[in-house]
Amino acid sequence: MKTQIVEINEKSLALAKNVIEGGGLVAFPTETVYGLGANAFCDDAVKQIYAVKGRPQDNPLIVHVHKDYDIERLVCDIPSYAKKLAEKFLPGPLTMVYKSRGAVSPTVSCGLDTLAVRIPSHEGAQRFLKYLDLPIAAPSANISKHVSPTSAEHVLADLNGKIPYILDGGASRGGIESTVLDVTGEKPCILRSGLITKEMIAEVAGSCDVFIPKEGVKVRSPGMKYKHYSPNCCTMLFPFDRIEQAKEAYLSETAKGVNAYIMCDSACAEVLGVKNILCLGKTEEEIAASLYGKLREGEQVAELIIAIAPEKQDGIMAGVMNRLTKACGGKQ
Ligand code: AMP
Ligand code: MG
Repeated sequence: MKTQIVEINEKSLALAKNVIEGGGLVAFPTETVYGLGANAFCDDAVKQIYAVKGRPQDNPLIVHVHKDYDIERLVCDIPSYAKKLAEKFLPGPLTMVYKSRGAVSPTVSCGLDTLAVRIPSHEGAQRFLKYLDLPIAAPSANISKHVSPTSAEHVLADLNGKIPYILDGGASRGGIESTVLDVTGEKPCILRSGLITKEMIAEVAGSCDVFIPKEGVKVRSPGMKYKHYSPNCCTMLFPFDRIEQAKEAYLSETAKGVNAYIMCDSACAEVLGVKNILCLGKTEEEIAASLYGKLREGEQVAELIIAIAPEKQDGIMAGVMNRLTKACGGKQ
């Protein structure tokens, strides 16, 4: 199969609709990362997502719908705080996990009685979802465990020959995956941090918990237990107050002939003054938006990425730290 990157227009949307209605997969842009979409009502199509990505069978998928879709067709028992959150943050990078009506393929939620639903704000995603008028199950459009894609080219690098079309919506502006929020309890509870932060949610809902998996406790979001977001090269991660040690590691690895790069924000890059830098930018938004692109750039040029964590670790940096820690989870 030849994979084509196509602009989003009437012609490509008609082609994409044909593929999705025929039980196939199409990659599409969102404001967080690119998604690999299938008709959520079609069990065979949803199973194909797992096969193409090599995704573990117990890691459930998020269903994406357009902004006028009535989500009560898919889920029930929506608490009033979730309605307030939807009013404030949707369309946007917030996924909420509700009680499922069981309308979509059971493979979407891996047999759980809940369903994760997202309404992306990206204009291309909205056009695609509106054109299909179907709930679209979609994980990130990368090979499982690899770095998530933030451009059509990233998707092509992972899935070339495996899907017919990649709808090109430019670079994803958010850069890290949506916040996943469990709204089945009395209070909202973050299962995966992202661009909609704990503080933002608490301001609207009154309070917000963050689920921290403990040993022996059943994970509430199965995706939490997997290694993720990893570049295909060796990695090291240093905290912000260990810049000197990071530089020493860089110099000693370089002296051994290892092609090492340091990944850090622009202020840190200035202090270091070394040659091989993967600079994440200055502001929190820039750092989140460039993280995955820089990890992918890094794996192309480096044998070793030495990452230095950002100084600030709350707000959206909590999501960045979560991804960075997982990306640097060990040697490949
Ligand atoms: P990805 O598709 O790779 O962005 O991952 C989707 C994330 O949403 C994973 O962390 C899943 O575990 C989580 N998720 C999806 N559906 C559910 C659900 N029904 N309950 C809890 N977490 C979910
Ligand atoms: Mg993913």
